[in-house]
Amino acid sequence: MKTMRNVSLKKYTTFKIGGRAKVIYFPENEEELLKLAARLNKKKLLILGNGSNILFSDHGFDGKIISTRRLDKIKRKGNKVFCEAGVNLFSLCHFCAEHGLSGLERLYGIPGSVGGAIVMNAGAYGCEICQLISKIKVVKNGVISEREVQNFCYRKGPLCEGEILVSAVFNLKKGKKEQILALQSEIFEKRKQSQPYSLPSAGSIFKRGKDFFPAQLIDEWKLKGKKIGGAEISSQHAGFIVNADNATSSDVLALICEIERMARAHGYNFEREIVIIE
Ligand SMILES: Cc1cc2nc3c(=O)[nH]c(=O)nc-3n(C[C@H](O)[C@H](O)[C@H](O)COP(=O)(O)OP(=O)(O)OC[C@H]3O[C@@H](n4cnc5c(N)ncnc54)[C@H](O)[C@@H]3O)c2cc1C
Repeated sequence: MKTMRNVSLKKYTTFKIGGRAKVIYFPENEEELLKLAARLNKKKLLILGNGSNILFSDHGFDGKIISTRRLDKIKRKGNKVFCEAGVNLFSLCHFCAEHGLSGLERLYGIPGSVGGAIVMNAGAYGCEICQLISKIKVVKNGVISEREVQNFCYRKGPLCEGEILVSAVFNLKKGKKEQILALQSEIFEKRKQSQPYSLPSAGSIFKRGKDFFPAQLIDEWKLKGKKIGGAEISSQHAGFIVNADNATSSDVLALICEIERMARAHGYNFEREIVIIE
């Protein structure tokens, strides 16, 4: 199994921020993942998908990291698609279009892995990934199990504490390749117009509130474009912080705290969506 030591985490996150990781393991199949997870069970362990919803500290991470990127098998049987945790959502969407399977189009452009997307119950334009899944396979304490997906809510998938997502089965509908491709491009165009795709980020920093949108409020409070060090509140989408110029995690955290202070002053409690590893 490929193992890398003393690795810069900048290369493993879409934010391009972070110090060095002591060690990253890259299991290539379910068996390797199981053995590794059992061996590292009691250690400080982090599962890393595509790193698109994560902010690592400038001091790095001194525990063990398992990257799922080599767990990338996809298979189709009728309207069902079996997918390992490390499959990139772009690849999954391309696979579905090729096979005339519809359902995931509105998620096109979310730069995560299937595992990370299920853990976060990633969603966009009225579609959440967990709505499309019939089964998940997880490992916990060296034991593997499979179950149907029931419990999930806004930005919180069906995994329990300490579980690692190994694979999932998607239940899709038959569709026409041209129509699937057309909807994927339409969605991607919309995203590019409203979100800062040309600068490194980790997507929306805060979750939507019960009756408010943090991005809208941040915009109203005239914080768009505010900078601390190399980090900036995107002037295109106030919900995003971008790495405009060699930002550090401290720069990003300082901006997040500034927004949270402003929110509290206006009587709001913003909940963080990104995972912060300090
Ligand atoms: C430009 C941009 C646009 C975005 N747009 C959206 C959007 O529209 N909607 C949306 O919901 N999100 C969006 N995001 C955020 C992000 O892409 C999603 O949350 C994505 O699903 C995270 O997947 P990942 O593989 O990158 O997870 P990571 O960032 O690698 O990990 C996120 C969390 O999941 C855990 N994890 C990852 N894989 C596993 C696994 N196999 N088992 C157990 N735990 C695991 C990690 O430990 C971590 O806690 C966007 C991000 C960017 C940069």
